[in-house]
Amino acid sequence: MAAKTKTPHALDASLQKILCISAHPDDNEFTVAGSVARWTREGRAVVFCLVTSGSAGTNEYTPSSDGLVPIRERECRDAAAILGVKELEFLGYADGTVEPTIALRRDLTRIIRRHKPDVVLCSDPTVRWYGNVYLNHPDHRAVASAALDAVFPSSETRSIFPELLAEGLERHKVKQVFLAGARDPDVYVDISRTLAAKCRALKAHRSQVGKGEWVDQLLKAWAIRDGKKAGLRYAEAFKRMVLG
Ligand SMILES: [Zn+2]
Repeated sequence: MAAKTKTPHALDASLQKILCISAHPDDNEFTVAGSVARWTREGRAVVFCLVTSGSAGTNEYTPSSDGLVPIRERECRDAAAILGVKELEFLGYADGTVEPTIALRRDLTRIIRRHKPDVVLCSDPTVRWYGNVYLNHPDHRAVASAALDAVFPSSETRSIFPELLAEGLERHKVKQVFLAGARDPDVYVDISRTLAAKCRALKAHRSQVGKGEWVDQLLKAWAIRDGKKAGLRYAEAFKRMVLG
């Protein structure tokens, strides 16, 4: 029996502020950028929070990789501008060795309380590998795990991280969470009109993709794969949590 086609997901009009929490400067462009471009075109505000600045993104700069940081942050800003994202936060953690520590959870709680997003996007911290070719990066898992813990319970609970109250950051409740690259996605965002912007944005990461001749083909293949499940030409798939 054929699997039931999922209904394309339209983000509710009441959800106007979105925060994307990622490990590396190009993570959003590989995963959620089509949805981000769609949402900014609909007039919503999207903020990118990058936990590292991607200093381990090539081997050219090792052992001193500091030279890569300004390049990757600039590429990230260029990509964000293409997607209509106006605000970025770089937390400056070391690329490649991120752990889901209490310090990271506090830093992400601070970002959530400062920006007060209705929706938080991150990846699925439970995915250890994809298919037979890609071991999920440990930074992705660590950041996603800390992000979910920051959403609940830290951001909405006054007695957790009281030092943030002292900074003037009151509790904030996130309404929905979208997990990209999820093991069991259940919503599909139509990116038919924004796939081109997603490709352009990924190509802004020149230090990572070179001239990016393969970018269009790869992102299109992923968008077709996810689109098929919802009867769409191109889509991005998410696991959605609606927090009670
Ligand atoms: Zn990454």
